[in-house]
Amino acid sequence: MAWQPAQNRYETMKYNRCGQSGLKLPAISLGLWHNFGDDTAHERKVAICRKAFDLGITHFDLANNYGPKPGSAETAFGQILREDFRGYRDELIISSKAGYNMWPGPYGEWGSRKYLISSCDQSLKRMGLDYVDIFYSHRFDPETPLEETCSALDQIVRSGRALYVGISSYNSRRTSEAVAILKQLGTPVLIHQPSYSMLNRWVEEDGLLDTLEEAGVGSIVFSPLAQGMLTSKYLGGIPEDSRAAQGKSLRPAFLNEKNVENLRALNAIAEKRGQTLAQMAIAWVLRGGRVTTALIGASRPEQVEDCVKALERPDFTAEELAAIDVHAKE
Ligand code: NDP
Repeated sequence: MAWQPAQNRYETMKYNRCGQSGLKLPAISLGLWHNFGDDTAHERKVAICRKAFDLGITHFDLANNYGPKPGSAETAFGQILREDFRGYRDELIISSKAGYNMWPGPYGEWGSRKYLISSCDQSLKRMGLDYVDIFYSHRFDPETPLEETCSALDQIVRSGRALYVGISSYNSRRTSEAVAILKQLGTPVLIHQPSYSMLNRWVEEDGLLDTLEEAGVGSIVFSPLAQGMLTSKYLGGIPEDSRAAQGKSLRPAFLNEKNVENLRALNAIAEKRGQTLAQMAIAWVLRGGRVTTALIGASRPEQVEDCVKALERPDFTAEELAAIDVHAKE
């Protein structure tokens, strides 16, 4: 019998309006950067996605290059859409991106019209979709005129390949420029995807959050758990099945004695709040309502379950925020 999602899946998740658009996104979204490539069993990918949807996570974030190998996360998610989420497409917000290296030669990365449109077509094919809900320029291209990148995004929407567009990791200045160009083209920027966590505050220092607020653009912040550092998993060493141990994107050098001391202190603050460190880290990026959604990753369904409970304790006292700053600010 086909899998049925939980009947009560919309009861506890919070849905936030994305900037000044008509779209609401779950306060917590799931990204498929790691743990959805050919190195992970399909059953595990299915279990993570089912758990997320059961808990009201309607937004799944992908990119052309997620794997390994590049493209394999989209292929795996396509299978999940066909076999598990069949019949639920209209309850889902699916995003993909192009910007990083995807295929050999001069047309396989960055921000040209040639690359963005052909990559979007490849992503749709891998996922078996007619359209994605959001398509992103994954990074600013210093060599391609921003007008070209933006008009390719506009064309992607006008041709029915995507419903909305986003930009990722653009700084505040480039964001303002892209927002103005796309507004003129008639395809407003829906959302920006920057990194943000207690340990990585560039979006505050650069003024990006202010820029987005003024422009009415939403935000989905990636790596709110600093790739797992802001969880309890590294407090007593580096577990074998962790991202840091597997030679992936999290360098074990970050987990030096001084940093782990700070993580232990942050964990103690979280415990006092009655939360896990992961839950506090997610609540922290969502504090004050400036961020639309926290974009987490997970290597098992239990982690999604743990993270979603962040919403049970969203507020911070001034004392808690100050104590966090002592241990989290570089
Ligand atoms: P996180 O900071 O949420 O890190 C996720 C990792 O943290 C998991 O893989 C797991 O590590 C660990 N973890 C998660 N929940 C728990 C928990 N409750 N308890 C203990 N450990 C936990 O985010 P990611 O770095 O994975 O990024 C999230 C998404 O953001 C990506 O999938 C992608 O969609 C997007 N992204 C976008 C980028 C861009 O340039 N636009 C760049 C990077 C990410 P472990 O695997 O060790 O168990």
